[in-house]
Amino acid sequence: MKSEIIQRYIHGDTLIIVSSLHGICEEIAKNQDITQNSSYLSLGIAAAFTAALAAEQKEDETYLTACFKWTKTGKSIAVTAFGDGRMCACIESFAPEADTDSTVLEVTRHSDVGGEYRSVVIGKNVQGAINAYISESMQRNAKWKTIRDGRKTTGIFVQELPGGADLRKTWDDIKPFFKVLDENELINAGCEFLGERELKFGCHCSRRSAQRILETIPPSERAALGKTAEIICKFCGKKYEIQNE
Ligand SMILES: [Zn+2]
Repeated sequence: MKSEIIQRYIHGDTLIIVSSLHGICEEIAKNQDITQNSSYLSLGIAAAFTAALAAEQKEDETYLTACFKWTKTGKSIAVTAFGDGRMCACIESFAPEADTDSTVLEVTRHSDVGGEYRSVVIGKNVQGAINAYISESMQRNAKWKTIRDGRKTTGIFVQELPGGADLRKTWDDIKPFFKVLDENELINAGCEFLGERELKFGCHCSRRSAQRILETIPPSERAALGKTAEIICKFCGKKYEIQNE
């Protein structure tokens, strides 16, 4: 199937969301200096899952961020996705915890009216953290699978609608799709195509958000920045020159 796309299908009482990414991950990898294959793999899973979550955003939500943290290596990948299909990501390091080896998943939903809502779950690995998020935070009867095809990542989120009871049957029916990644396999399995949306690399930063970042810096440190402070967005690398008064 093509990439940079999110598709929705229905199969009985089950909703299926398919996200497929390639170019966006390449762009993020370039911006964030990802060279290791294992990091690129993690990025693909994180981005595909975040895209699927964003496709089911509540109406008043503007965007959501899913941050995966690996306690042993001290690496994190935060992916932000908007309801309109824009996505970006940021890779950071933190102090690793020597005696733990788990994956923490923090999902933050941003809304213009309600502010931020954050939930945190822990799993043994990325798939475990996603499973924990689905069962503990979303409290849905749902399944997630990631399939890698070269540098392309395809994610499938299958969830029972309220009152539904055929998740297992749907999962078994759509299995051929996992092997060939051809949308026709979903149609052959009895899925009805509901619609699709293009995904694209795009950041949420603005002159206003850069201004706000500057305002959070303690006055003593701000004074050292000079008359014009340069704020660089960690997601997309865009530079903002902000008056420092
Ligand atoms: Zn940016």
